[in-house]
Amino acid sequence: MGLRLYNTLRRQVEPFEPLEPGGVRLYSCGPTVYGPSHIGNFRSYIFADVLRRYLAWSGYRVTWVMNITDVDDRIIRNATEAGLSIDELTGPHVATLAQDLGRLRIGPPDEMPRATEHVPDMARLISRLLERGHAYRTEDGSIFFRIDSWPAYGRLARLDPAQQRVGERVEADDYGKDDVRDFALWKAPKPGEPSWSTEVGEGRPGWHIECSAMSMRYLGDSFDLHTGGVDLIFPHHEDEIAQSEAATRRPFVRTWLHCAHLQMGGQKMARRDGNVARPADLYAQGFVPRALRFALLRVHYRAPIEFTDEALSDAAAAVTRLSTALAALDAYREDRPTDASLDDLLASTRERFGAAMDDDLNVSAALATVFDLVKEINRRLEERQLSTADAERTAAFIRDLDQVLAVAEDEDAELEEADRLLLDERAAAREARQWDRADELRAALRQHGVLVEDTRDGQRWRLATVEKRVCTPEPAGG
Ligand SMILES: [Zn+2]
Repeated sequence: MGLRLYNTLRRQVEPFEPLEPGGVRLYSCGPTVYGPSHIGNFRSYIFADVLRRYLAWSGYRVTWVMNITDVDDRIIRNATEAGLSIDELTGPHVATLAQDLGRLRIGPPDEMPRATEHVPDMARLISRLLERGHAYRTEDGSIFFRIDSWPAYGRLARLDPAQQRVGERVEADDYGKDDVRDFALWKAPKPGEPSWSTEVGEGRPGWHIECSAMSMRYLGDSFDLHTGGVDLIFPHHEDEIAQSEAATRRPFVRTWLHCAHLQMGGQKMARRDGNVARPADLYAQGFVPRALRFALLRVHYRAPIEFTDEALSDAAAAVTRLSTALAALDAYREDRPTDASLDDLLASTRERFGAAMDDDLNVSAALATVFDLVKEINRRLEERQLSTADAERTAAFIRDLDQVLAVAEDEDAELEEADRLLLDERAAAREARQWDRADELRAALRQHGVLVEDTRDGQRWRLATVEKRVCTPEPAGG
């Protein structure tokens, strides 16, 4: 049937068809780096990442751009208050962001353009809007988009044309605009604030123009998919459409996709309310990044998630189930004929997985097919029903599905060299039937977060996820 996605523009699920056969161009509104991002932000980036991975898994060439907003009112305010330059303020947050994205296995995107490096592109776009009569200058040198000049305004957010703008980042009367609905494309310089010298004068860009300029710079005037959180539909994405289409006279984005909020304690997670959890807080509690990734992707992207400790513990248990199954398959050795029904099992799993993802990225249903398979495979392993080659084939199959989900194993789960030596030593001790020594080594490894288990196929290890936190600690040594 092929991929179908819910397009916010038409409020319906539609068949996805790329503008150019075989290639997909995708833009995601990225973080504003005035502080570290919270897990609600990461939910939105993980959603875009799963979309990107699924498109690639389905055979498309994907170009994914996610911007970094490194200049806006809050950044300037925070930098001024701290006596720092913009770069000094945002630099550490950009570094943390890169680390967080990597650990959560998001991307990396093909491009991560920074607003401060694309100011001339923004000025060029604003210049075209001025030429075409869609923008005007106020006395102080600020430039506004004239909403009256663009009748299609409000199509995405389904606004009543007379409706006033709410939730705007700039006070209505700040810059003396003609119409309260008009939004700032360019802001005149204020004393003590950073500004750029451009073809439209001295000043700095408004927030909305950043995404139009950077997306079109890397993906062309028209592209396939644009993602963001639901709170960006209005005014941010409405404004992006207006200023882009008014400048180019071409359709801007074919499909708009929006991810629901993450809630904690019944409230939307938001920095301004202080109701936030950050990845580092959760890792400090002993959760591995892929448990967090799992917790953030398991619910359909259009449904809100209520984030709780329990949900995260469940996620940790689930990802452990996957990695344990893979470790068991890797270790399994059985000299016997192939399991005649395995091919059918894998083929039907693949089909159900694809059908679930094609259905507007129904990740929960896709995960259910993976866990059904794991359960059945565990049974066949237990009954020694698979051959060694069957086990290898099955492990490769699960890893292939995990190209989309990226939760089954840690990319950085490489053992420390010292722990690898301890494991080798323990295997040798068991071989020599030195059980006390083997137990000592198991305890030592456990203290390093490496859990060892003895099976018929030899010792198996995995990295502790949340068990580190909930298991009774080893008796203290004095
Ligand atoms: Zn944006």
